Amino acid sequence: MKISSEQAMLDFGKNFAQKLTSPRNFAAVIELVGDVGAGKTTFTRGLAQGLGITKPVTSPSFTISKSYALPTGGQLIHYDFYRLPDPGLMLDDLRDALTHPNNIIIIEWSNSIKHILPPDHIQLHISKLDDGSRDLQLKEARGATLHTHTQPSTSKPSKASSTTPSHSKHPANTSSELSVYLDTSTPTTILRLNDTEYSHHFANDLAEGLLAYLHDKLADQGSTFHDITDITFMSGPGSFTGLRIGATVVNTLAHELHIPLYDHHGQSHHIIVPDYGRPANISTPRK
Ligand code: ADP
Ligand code: MG
Repeated sequence: MKISSEQAMLDFGKNFAQKLTSPRNFAAVIELVGDVGAGKTTFTRGLAQGLGITKPVTSPSFTISKSYALPTGGQLIHYDFYRLPDPGLMLDDLRDALTHPNNIIIIEWSNSIKHILPPDHIQLHISKLDDGSRDLQLKEARGATLHTHTQPSTSKPSKASSTTPSHSKHPANTSSELSVYLDTSTPTTILRLNDTEYSHHFANDLAEGLLAYLHDKLADQGSTFHDITDITFMSGPGSFTGLRIGATVVNTLAHELHIPLYDHHGQSHHIIVPDYGRPANISTPRK
């Protein structure tokens, strides 16, 4: 949706308030995604108006959070985690705020706290267009439906979430889902992108090469890391180094992309801890 002026942005925010009035079990969460100057705070000012807040809304950049009492009870809390890689105590503050069903929570620069957001929160992407207007895209957070509806399965766990059967040769190009399966438990790394399987023998260069390998295979299918919708990882037992490197890559990707992560049993994890199948000794005992 195109929004051509500051006033139109305020009006959009104001109207948005009507969408948030239904009874809830949990705070309403709106994540605002966009560069500095995109219009995130302007949207929030409009929203506050629509919610009946008369106090002026200003950017919380320096205080991290600002709250405004809602006439209907609860608070509108506006967080801005810009350049705050470690949110510290604010993480507990946000955690608590999320449990109050009357609260409405707006978050700018959510990277460092994404993992505690409810999976079904709203994302509003705002981008500046060349003509000075703004493009707005409203989304449910990625992975939301996958988190709640995926049933574990043993053979191909990442497929359990697939709603559209895909028999195409290049499923990544034709389906909106891109499931990654990775097995680094042996010297031959196995990578599946939907139904397409690749394998590669890494010598001592798995740490240097794995991410680039994944990147290149995605590129072969016309995709990027951002197109990945879920990751399944063979979490062991197997090669200590292989599992450790593979787990680091999938944990980081899943965290950064905010997508679900499964082990090969179909069990969902925030962070996969490899099952080495033996004590993780780094140096071999001397004889
Ligand atoms: P952010 O919080 O994303 O950094 P702001 O909300 O502070 O950005 O907005 C930055 C500037 O952009 C403000 O001067 C605001 O008036 C202007 N602005 C916001 N929305 C629009 C829009 N849709 N069209 C044109 N200008 C806008
Ligand atoms: Mg701002």
